[in-house]
Amino acid sequence: MKPTITVIGAGISGLAAARFLAETGPVEVLEKAERVGGLVQCDYVDGNLFHKVGGHVFNAKNQDIADWFWAHFDVEAEFYRVRRNAKILMDGKLVGYPLENYLYQLGKATVTRVMDDLLALRERVGQGPEPYDNFRDFLEGNFGTTLYRLYFEPYNRKIWNTDLSRIPLEWLHGKLPMPNLREILLSNVLREEESAMVHATFYYPKTGGSQFIADRLARGLRVQTGYAVRSIAARGGRLVLDGERETDAVVYTGDVRRLPDLLRTDDPDLQQALEAVRNLRAESTSNLFCECDANDISWLYLPEPSVRAHRIIYTGNFSAANNHGSARRTCVVEFAGRVGRDVMEAEVRKLPGNLTPLADNYEPNSYVIQEKETRRTINALKERLQPYRCYLLGRFAEWEYYNMDKAIEAARDLARHLAGEGAKTRY
Ligand SMILES: Cc1cc2nc3c(=O)[nH]c(=O)nc-3n(C[C@H](O)[C@H](O)[C@H](O)COP(=O)(O)OP(=O)(O)OC[C@H]3O[C@@H](n4cnc5c(N)ncnc54)[C@H](O)[C@@H]3O)c2cc1C
Repeated sequence: MKPTITVIGAGISGLAAARFLAETGPVEVLEKAERVGGLVQCDYVDGNLFHKVGGHVFNAKNQDIADWFWAHFDVEAEFYRVRRNAKILMDGKLVGYPLENYLYQLGKATVTRVMDDLLALRERVGQGPEPYDNFRDFLEGNFGTTLYRLYFEPYNRKIWNTDLSRIPLEWLHGKLPMPNLREILLSNVLREEESAMVHATFYYPKTGGSQFIADRLARGLRVQTGYAVRSIAARGGRLVLDGERETDAVVYTGDVRRLPDLLRTDDPDLQQALEAVRNLRAESTSNLFCECDANDISWLYLPEPSVRAHRIIYTGNFSAANNHGSARRTCVVEFAGRVGRDVMEAEVRKLPGNLTPLADNYEPNSYVIQEKETRRTINALKERLQPYRCYLLGRFAEWEYYNMDKAIEAARDLARHLAGEGAKTRY
């Protein structure tokens, strides 16, 4: 009989992994929540769609991943292609995003300082500045002190709630567009709308938001919801979950910090590697789902310290079906950390759009905080787990800042690896 693989967690990573693994053998997925989706879950609140965490939209740079994803959907019939229209609220005015391309919308004195900064930075190119190794130095070193203080520092401080110089630069690889003086100048002189730029659109389900994506990916898989795995032990060459469920390999997509309590082992090296992940840091988010006035914005960034929220995601603009229960539109206001409903309600009164609260949600695991040692610590644990045929996958298992497309890519790579391992051993 072919070996069975158990995937713990039915978020996007677990569902994608299960689909890839099912191509070569039996797979079962165990999910502690009552439904699939993890971070991408959505609820209906009086007929309006509430993304409980953020407002998930889909894009994939990697063509193989895009092809795999679209093989599960009818893109024309089931998705909208939505134009990205992001803005930044500064001094009561809406400014284009990314800010460096819309400098002409700022006051003359500010623009002059930004230009002086950028020209001075340009002159330093090639004169051997240290390569940046942390997020703070990268931002200030590439965008200049004026833009850093005006936008990058306050916005990122709200989200990460940490000293930006502690965030290593590897973390950013491929995630932030690198600023380029030529492009900044061209954008500001030509004043092209963002819609003319690359990655100016994203895909969004016509109904059901990101829950629709998770539900579709779960279709045809063996998924048991409402099952929280409480222990994993190695016994007689097999893995045993909760003392009774035998399996040949485990793909764990939950929070890696829980693994030291889940995994029973006498192996001192593995114990040490497990202990090393216990205190990784993450940032939580609180979301207030609201009705709002009509507008054409997709995301509104809120860098100013005078308001506590950092972003509004106008999910009601992505699909009209998201506002079925309302005569107005709907949106999600995102706050870093745990913020009480009363505080969020008071805060949204300071924001534009006549926001009326409908529902709220707190998500303890939203953003991983990567520090300089994080990747090494996770890789060491992966190595120690491999002989036990236990594998880490996903945003909070690998402690990576994955979006859905990256989570799917990681799932594909793991499945390929397991197919190779399975050919050599019995996993
Ligand atoms: C605010 C925010 C906005 C985002 N916006 C976007 C976006 O627009 N586009 C995009 O592509 N990505 C976006 N992302 C990223 C996206 O959410 C993640 O890439 C993706 O959801 C990660 O899925 P995952 O399966 O790795 O983790 P999770 O979704 O966390 O899934 C893990 C699952 O494991 C289950 N589990 C844990 N422990 C156990 C256990 N012991 N037993 C059984 N089950 C268990 C959990 O219940 C959960 O369902 C956003 C993320 C955030 C936080």
